Amino acid sequence: MNTKDFINMDHTYGAHNYHPLPVVISEAKGAKVKDPEGKEYFDFLSAYSAVNQGHRHPKIIKALTDQLNRCTLTSRAFHNDMMGPFLKKLCDFTGFEMALPMNTGAEAVETALKLARRWGAEKKGIKNGKQEIIVAENNFHGRTISIVSFSTDPDARVNYGPYTPGFKIVPYNDAKAIEKAITKNTCAVLLEPIQGEAGVFVPDAGYLKAVSDICKKNNVLFIADEIQTGFCRTGKKFAVDHEGVRPDVMTLGKALGGGVIPVSAVVADKHIMEVFTPGSHGSTFGGYPLAMAVGIASIEVLEEENLADKAQELGEFFRSEVKKIKCDKIVQVRGKGLLNAVVFEKGFEAWEVCVALKEAGLLAKQTHGNIIRFAPPLVITKEELTEGLAIIKSVFEKIK
Ligand SMILES: *Cc1c(COP(=O)(O)O)cnc(C)c1O
Repeated sequence: MNTKDFINMDHTYGAHNYHPLPVVISEAKGAKVKDPEGKEYFDFLSAYSAVNQGHRHPKIIKALTDQLNRCTLTSRAFHNDMMGPFLKKLCDFTGFEMALPMNTGAEAVETALKLARRWGAEKKGIKNGKQEIIVAENNFHGRTISIVSFSTDPDARVNYGPYTPGFKIVPYNDAKAIEKAITKNTCAVLLEPIQGEAGVFVPDAGYLKAVSDICKKNNVLFIADEIQTGFCRTGKKFAVDHEGVRPDVMTLGKALGGGVIPVSAVVADKHIMEVFTPGSHGSTFGGYPLAMAVGIASIEVLEEENLADKAQELGEFFRSEVKKIKCDKIVQVRGKGLLNAVVFEKGFEAWEVCVALKEAGLLAKQTHGNIIRFAPPLVITKEELTEGLAIIKSVFEKIK
C-alpha cells in the first residue's frame, strides 16, 4: 500500500474528526519522519509537543522494552514498584509535594477541575454545587464534555449540549478581568501560560505573576495547564518559570510520555491533594507500570540533555532567522523556546503553505487558518534546524 491507499482507508473507515495534511508517516527517528515511499521530512509539530525528546529516543525505548518484559499493568487495586519512583521523580522535577497520575491531557485537566471543586467545598467552605472556576477566552484544555463546555471555539463546542455549568470565561491576558470575575464561590482560575492551540499566543510579561497574586489574595487556586508548554518546550522546565510563578496546581501530559505512550498527571501540594480520598477519583490505567517507566525516562532525558537551555537557545535562533525572511503576508513571528508561530495577515489561508512545506520536506500545521506553528523536537540539532529554516525560507519567499 502507498500513501494514497492509506489516506483513502482512513477516509473510508475513520470518523472525519480531523483534517490532516496529505502525508502518511510510517517511520520516525529523532527530528525526522519518513513516508511509505521513503521520502524524509523534518517534523516541526512534534505531535503537538508530545515528542519533545525526539521520536523513539533510545533511552525511552529501552525503559519501555525493559518494562514490557517485566510487568505492564496492575491497576490501582494493588501497588506496583514503578509508580512510587515515578511520583518522586515528577515531584522533584516540578517542585510539588504530590502527584496524581492519569493517561491523557484531558483527564489531567478533568482531575484538576475535580480537585479544585472539592478543595473549594472542603477547604474554602463553598457550598457544594456553587463552585466556580474562571477560564480564559480562546482556551484549549481538551475534548471532554465539561472541558468543551467552557471552550469559546465554536468548532469544539457546537451541538454538544447540555453544557457543564460552573465556569466563567474572561479575556486572556487581562488580570483585572480575573479579579473582577472572582466571587466568594470561586475555587480556581485555570489558564494556559501560553495559549498553544490559539496560535502560540504569548501573554504580556507580568500577566501570570499578576494572576498568581490575585489568586493568593482571594484564596483561589491557580491551575496552570502546562500540558503543551511544559517539559522544556518553551526554554524553561515550565512556562510559568519565565515569570518565577509557582501555581497551586499544574496539569501535565504530552511530553511526559516521551512520544511513546500517553502519560499525564496533576501535581499540587499535600494540603490541596489530600481532598482526594479512596474511591473519590481514579483510572484503570493511571499509574500503570509501563507508563511510569516511560515517564521516568522521559524526564531523565530532558535533564540529561539539558533540553530547556537548548530550546531557549535554538528558539531565539529560529525566530531571528524567520524574521529575516522576506514575505509581505507575515505580520508576526512569536513564541518562546521552541514553541513558535508565524502569523500571516487576517484572511490568509495557510493550508497551501503547509502543503508546500510538506512537498519541500518539512511538516507543520496551520491553526485558525492564518497561523503556522513550528515546534520541532527539542533534540533537533542546530544543523537540522538550519536545514529546516532553509526549507521554510524557500517556501515563504514564494508566497504571493
Ligand atoms: C493537548 C492539550 C490538552 C489535551 O491533551 P490530550 O492528551 O489531547 O487530552 C490539554 N491542554 C492543553 C494546553 C493541551 O495543549
